Amino acid sequence: MVMPLILTAHIFSMAVTTASLYRFFKVGTFTRLIDHRPWSVMPAITQECASREIEPARSSVLHLLGIPTGANQPSKVTEMFDRAFDLFHRTAAPRGISEDITREEFTVIYAGDGKNDPETPLETIYPQADNLALFTVTLGSEVSESITRLFEENDFAFATIFDAVASEGADRLADMVMRGHLEMTDGINSEAAGTATVRYSPGYCGWYVSGQRALFARLQPERIGVELLESCLMTPSKSISGVIVTGPTEIHRFVPDFMFCADCVTKSCRERIAELDTTGF
Ligand code: SF4
Repeated sequence: MVMPLILTAHIFSMAVTTASLYRFFKVGTFTRLIDHRPWSVMPAITQECASREIEPARSSVLHLLGIPTGANQPSKVTEMFDRAFDLFHRTAAPRGISEDITREEFTVIYAGDGKNDPETPLETIYPQADNLALFTVTLGSEVSESITRLFEENDFAFATIFDAVASEGADRLADMVMRGHLEMTDGINSEAAGTATVRYSPGYCGWYVSGQRALFARLQPERIGVELLESCLMTPSKSISGVIVTGPTEIHRFVPDFMFCADCVTKSCRERIAELDTTGF
């Protein structure tokens, strides 16, 4: 059952201070709705926002494509970037769903079907967290269908740029949901200076991708139009799922020397850990 935003505020006031609640709803211009779940103390939140809210920086799209910032671009490439951002705004329908989960529940979900790496950063971080929340975000089916169509039409250069814009947009959407949780849980751990929030997804950092099945069974992202394929990939493709971990900044630091780190291309955790002191997420 979908309920209006104002009732959402009353229910959240059970767990967070009024001040932190106010800040939570100031994050972005998400429309936040709730959906009661019979087994959950905190209700699930579904969210929508305008594509402008999550428009990625051109520099981050260039970085994803391996193009150095400041490199001279032919006017044809600049024009393709303009068209890609325009198509992004015409097709993206950003939505998200998140729901708090207890450590005990997450222990079962994280174990999945027992295929995680023997040692992972998340297995030592989440037991120390103040708040855990499952989440899924998506840009909707029109974005993914456009990418597929562009590749089928052999418009490879433009398809690749648009795909990168969409990937970065989905990442910004997930970050927006994550920031919302940091604001919300600030009230839970208000005495601890330096609370930070980091998100993790199945398929990364030792959390085996089949963990998606347990996550989907619990969160039911089908409610925002995201389904899980047999392969454990999501459809629409520009979707991200995982867990948002909020707690003292110190719990989020680790040395990335796990066995699977040798094959990691992005090493994105290093950037994330470096940002903890400056941004809090
Ligand atoms: S190096 Fe890569 S795989 Fe290893 S923890 Fe960092 S992001 Fe994860």
